[in-house]
Amino acid sequence: VDGLVKHFPIRGGVLQRQVATVRAVDGVSFRIGRGETLALVGESGCGKSTVGKTIMRFHQPTAGTVRFDGRDLAAMKPRELRAVRRDIQFVFQDPFASLPARMPVGDILAEPLEIHGVGDRRSRRARVVELLELVGLGADAVNRYPHEFSGGQRQRVGIARALALEPRLLILDEPVSALDVSIQAQVVNLLARLQRQLGVAYLFIAHDLAVVQHLAHRVAVMYLGHIVEYGDADTVFTRPAHPYTQALLSAVPVPDPRLRDLDRRILLTGDLPSPADPPAGCPFHTRCWKAEERCRAERPALEVRTPGGADSACHFAAEAELTSGPAGRTAS
Ligand code: SF4
Ligand code: MG
Repeated sequence: VDGLVKHFPIRGGVLQRQVATVRAVDGVSFRIGRGETLALVGESGCGKSTVGKTIMRFHQPTAGTVRFDGRDLAAMKPRELRAVRRDIQFVFQDPFASLPARMPVGDILAEPLEIHGVGDRRSRRARVVELLELVGLGADAVNRYPHEFSGGQRQRVGIARALALEPRLLILDEPVSALDVSIQAQVVNLLARLQRQLGVAYLFIAHDLAVVQHLAHRVAVMYLGHIVEYGDADTVFTRPAHPYTQALLSAVPVPDPRLRDLDRRILLTGDLPSPADPPAGCPFHTRCWKAEERCRAERPALEVRTPGGADSACHFAAEAELTSGPAGRTAS
């Protein structure tokens, strides 16, 4: 994904003229390797779902390119695009809303196979049972309806459906956010096992770092349409360079003793600014406890700022250490 931009027009008045632009995604770049998990993390409204949906072509990008296997999706002929649609599948946040209520699970799982003309009726049935077993559901689920399942089981069905065509990339849009905390770990563990077993890559979209800490190989932290930190999961979790990442991470119970010793929670004050009217300079400056004059005027580029560190979009990331939480805003 290279320089991806997605702006939405806001129209108003009797003539429905464009009165503003929501800059949902404002120049986002990253790559995901085979069989690898990139976690895309940020609070709600930061544009992370829009990134996933634009890769899926649910939205047309305003600018930028998305390549799969080196090939530009926008330049593909319909036939090539259909093949890529098999390779990239989407798992929705809400397993209650995303499964058709009136279809038995067997039909829900067979549907993508039918649409893509895979196998005959009998082999599709066999594949459906295989998929159910893959996600830890029994073959008897075939004749049951979504409402007969718990939230966690429904999300397993959603994952099975997404895996039906043996995709190479799953875009998971907050796949456990709608589930009870006790169930979340089970689904995350399932996803980890499926990745080991199938070698499928994940773009795992989440609003907090805790959910992805055992799954992510790399992490991209998003704020107001921009990636503000991007690097190996180990680096981001142990040496977060951007103040926003530090704030997100301070909410995560981490086993790392260096972080535990800090024993502090960085509480962000103020609201997320509107993506229709983003602040000048660093997009985080209205909530950043380290902001200086320069931050209001000049947007920091996303680049490596400490030896061996993650890419960070903060003018002062080189000076940022874990010990530099916001004075007066910490609680132990
Ligand atoms: Fe904070 Fe300035 Fe860094 Fe932005 S550039 S994160 S406002 S210190
Ligand atoms: Mg979302």
